Amino acid sequence: MPAKRRGLIPFLACKCPLCSTGNVFQNSIFSLRKFADTNYNCPHCGLSFEPEPGFFFGAMYFSYALIVAIIFLLSVLFYSFNAFEHAVWGIPAIIVLMLPLLFRYSRMMMLFIVYPLTYRNIFLDKKTEDPMDGSSV
Ligand SMILES: [Zn+2]
Repeated sequence: MPAKRRGLIPFLACKCPLCSTGNVFQNSIFSLRKFADTNYNCPHCGLSFEPEPGFFFGAMYFSYALIVAIIFLLSVLFYSFNAFEHAVWGIPAIIVLMLPLLFRYSRMMMLFIVYPLTYRNIFLDKKTEDPMDGSSV
Protein backbone atom coordinates (compact mmCIF):
# COMPACT_ATOMS: atom_id res chain seq x y z
CA MET A 1 0.00 0.00 0.00
CA PRO A 2 1.58 3.28 -1.01
CA ALA A 3 1.72 6.03 1.58
CA LYS A 4 -0.83 8.77 1.33
CA ARG A 5 0.04 11.67 -0.91
CA ARG A 6 2.14 14.32 0.69
CA GLY A 7 1.13 17.84 0.04
CA LEU A 8 -0.12 21.08 1.43
CA ILE A 9 -3.11 19.75 3.39
CA PRO A 10 -1.13 17.46 5.77
CA PHE A 11 1.46 20.20 6.11
CA LEU A 12 -1.12 22.80 7.09
CA ALA A 13 -2.91 20.33 9.38
CA CYS A 14 0.43 19.46 11.10
CA LYS A 15 0.17 15.77 10.20
CA CYS A 16 2.93 13.20 9.81
CA PRO A 17 4.99 13.71 6.62
CA LEU A 18 4.91 9.98 5.89
CA CYS A 19 1.36 8.76 6.56
CA SER A 20 -0.46 12.14 6.64
CA THR A 21 -2.59 10.81 9.50
CA GLY A 22 -0.77 11.06 12.82
CA ASN A 23 -0.55 14.37 14.63
CA VAL A 24 2.90 15.92 15.00
CA PHE A 25 1.91 18.06 17.99
CA GLN A 26 0.26 16.80 21.16
CA ASN A 27 -2.00 19.75 21.92
CA SER A 28 -4.02 22.42 20.19
CA ILE A 29 -2.25 25.53 18.96
CA PHE A 30 -4.52 27.53 21.28
CA SER A 31 -3.10 25.77 24.33
CA LEU A 32 -0.70 28.58 25.17
CA ARG A 33 1.41 26.60 27.65
CA LYS A 34 1.63 23.37 25.70
CA PHE A 35 1.38 24.34 22.03
CA ALA A 36 5.04 23.38 21.52
CA ASP A 37 4.79 19.79 22.82
CA THR A 38 5.80 17.57 19.92
CA ASN A 39 5.26 13.82 19.70
CA TYR A 40 8.44 11.76 19.56
CA ASN A 41 6.89 9.31 17.12
CA CYS A 42 3.93 9.34 14.81
CA PRO A 43 0.95 7.87 16.71
CA HIS A 44 -0.24 6.20 13.48
CA CYS A 45 2.81 4.85 11.60
CA GLY A 46 5.54 5.15 14.25
CA LEU A 47 7.86 7.42 12.25
CA SER A 48 10.31 9.13 14.56
CA PHE A 49 9.79 12.88 14.34
CA GLU A 50 13.23 13.55 15.80
CA PRO A 51 15.65 11.22 14.02
CA GLU A 52 18.64 12.69 15.83
CA PRO A 53 19.08 14.86 18.93
CA GLY A 54 18.68 18.51 18.08
CA PHE A 55 16.99 17.88 14.74
CA PHE A 56 14.58 20.74 15.29
CA PHE A 57 17.37 23.29 15.82
CA GLY A 58 17.29 23.67 12.06
CA ALA A 59 13.77 25.03 12.40
CA MET A 60 15.36 28.28 13.57
CA TYR A 61 16.45 28.99 9.99
CA PHE A 62 12.94 28.47 8.66
CA SER A 63 11.56 30.60 11.48
CA TYR A 64 14.02 33.36 10.62
CA ALA A 65 13.08 33.22 6.94
CA LEU A 66 9.36 33.32 7.78
CA ILE A 67 9.79 36.31 10.08
CA VAL A 68 11.80 38.23 7.48
CA ALA A 69 9.11 37.50 4.88
CA ILE A 70 6.37 38.62 7.29
CA ILE A 71 8.25 41.82 8.13
CA PHE A 72 8.66 42.57 4.44
CA LEU A 73 5.01 41.87 3.61
CA LEU A 74 3.69 43.83 6.58
CA SER A 75 5.99 46.76 5.75
CA VAL A 76 4.57 46.85 2.24
CA LEU A 77 1.05 46.57 3.67
CA PHE A 78 1.54 49.38 6.19
CA TYR A 79 3.18 51.53 3.53
CA SER A 80 0.44 50.95 0.98
CA PHE A 81 -2.22 51.96 3.50
CA ASN A 82 -0.19 55.07 4.32
CA ALA A 83 0.20 53.97 7.95
CA PHE A 84 3.91 53.32 8.01
CA GLU A 85 4.35 55.22 11.30
CA HIS A 86 2.32 52.45 13.00
CA ALA A 87 4.62 49.75 11.62
CA VAL A 88 7.09 50.31 14.47
CA TRP A 89 4.71 48.76 17.01
CA GLY A 90 2.31 47.00 14.64
CA ILE A 91 4.77 44.60 13.05
CA PRO A 92 6.30 43.34 16.33
CA ALA A 93 2.82 42.97 17.84
CA ILE A 94 1.63 40.89 14.87
CA ILE A 95 4.76 38.74 15.01
CA VAL A 96 4.33 38.09 18.74
CA LEU A 97 0.73 37.06 18.11
CA MET A 98 1.91 34.72 15.35
CA LEU A 99 4.66 33.04 17.42
CA PRO A 100 2.80 29.74 17.95
CA LEU A 101 2.12 29.57 14.20
CA LEU A 102 5.73 30.40 13.35
CA PHE A 103 7.03 27.82 15.82
CA ARG A 104 4.81 25.06 14.48
CA TYR A 105 5.24 25.73 10.79
CA SER A 106 9.00 26.11 11.04
CA ARG A 107 9.06 22.63 12.60
CA MET A 108 6.67 21.37 9.94
CA MET A 109 9.03 22.75 7.27
CA MET A 110 11.85 20.75 8.87
CA LEU A 111 9.69 17.63 8.76
CA PHE A 112 8.40 18.12 5.21
CA ILE A 113 11.50 19.54 3.52
CA VAL A 114 14.67 18.58 5.40
CA TYR A 115 13.58 15.21 6.80
CA PRO A 116 12.77 13.53 3.45
CA LEU A 117 15.97 14.90 1.90
CA THR A 118 18.29 13.96 4.76
CA TYR A 119 16.73 10.65 5.79
CA ARG A 120 15.51 9.50 2.43
CA ASN A 121 16.07 5.83 3.27
CA ILE A 122 13.53 5.98 6.11
CA PHE A 123 10.87 7.28 3.76
CA LEU A 124 11.71 4.79 1.01
CA ASP A 125 11.71 1.85 3.46
CA LYS A 126 8.35 2.79 4.93
CA LYS A 127 6.75 3.46 1.57
CA THR A 128 7.68 0.08 0.11
CA GLU A 129 6.48 -1.91 3.13
CA ASP A 130 3.36 -3.89 2.45
CA PRO A 131 1.26 -3.81 5.63
CA MET A 132 -0.70 -6.95 4.61
CA ASP A 133 2.19 -9.35 4.95
CA GLY A 134 4.93 -7.16 6.39
CA SER A 135 7.34 -7.78 3.55
CA SER A 136 8.86 -5.25 1.25
CA VAL A 137 7.54 -4.95 -2.31
ZN1 LIG B 1 2.82 8.77 10.40
